[in-house]
Amino acid sequence: MRPSLILHGGAGSPAPEFSADRRHGLQRAFTAAWSMLEQGGSALDAVVHAVMLLENDPTFNAGIGSCINRDGIVEMDASLMDGATFHAGAVGAVRTVQHPILLAQSIMQAGQHVFLVGSGAEEFVRTHGIPEIAPEQLITERQHRRWRSAQTHGEPGTVGAVAFDTAGHLAAATSTGGLFNKHPGRVGDSAVIGAGTYADDALGAVSATGVGEAIIRTTLARTTVELLRGGVDPTQAARQALTIFRQRTASEAGVIVIDALGRVGYAHNASAMSVAYRRGDALVIEAD
Ligand code: ASP
Repeated sequence: MRPSLILHGGAGSPAPEFSADRRHGLQRAFTAAWSMLEQGGSALDAVVHAVMLLENDPTFNAGIGSCINRDGIVEMDASLMDGATFHAGAVGAVRTVQHPILLAQSIMQAGQHVFLVGSGAEEFVRTHGIPEIAPEQLITERQHRRWRSAQTHGEPGTVGAVAFDTAGHLAAATSTGGLFNKHPGRVGDSAVIGAGTYADDALGAVSATGVGEAIIRTTLARTTVELLRGGVDPTQAARQALTIFRQRTASEAGVIVIDALGRVGYAHNASAMSVAYRRGDALVIEAD
């Protein structure tokens, strides 16, 4: 089967000053994950790898470069789901891990729990050999400047990936530093299976971005996947999900989708959302 892949780098207000960096970051992550899929790699490995590269890229609001909370600290959320096995892993409000998506994957692989938060999740990091990082190393100069001046413009993007592999399996992953100036301990949709991330080989897979509280209340990822029933086109399902989302919450979000046939779609109701996907043989990157 021919693989498919779509990445997002967050939805929100356009930030033209970061557009070139976002484009470059998305291109790099897409190319690496795409070559894994082309060589027969799994959808799960491809989404984890793409998200890890984006977590390392200070242009995005995930891993290094994450938004800073009210107390000047980075607290990150991430989740992933395997559409083949229905296994999932998630972390909320973690402070000492370089790659929250790796921690989520490791929780999934351990198999006992789905969702760990705060200090318990960090203890899991230490006992499972996941690379730790000093909390201050996650803070970039740009984010610190922004926090000092309480400047909300130029929100960098949460990251997400959805893949369909040559065996016909789906996976989705999402990672974020959350919302700028958020309350300490706040966990958003990116950590919540069904809200920010969902994957089911029978229907499709989704990663969401936008205002986490509204995305949680509408379980946006699962809602989008359900709208694929009956073979609905993924772009159509994404648009319909966003219509429901807007009507119920008057808030902003975006979703990337791949259905059970490997068809790719996305939609958002924010003023901008960065995405990378393939149209035919060409890589398309939107990064305003
Ligand atoms: N959804 C993320 C959150 O609320 C933020 C984002 O996607 O920009 O934590």
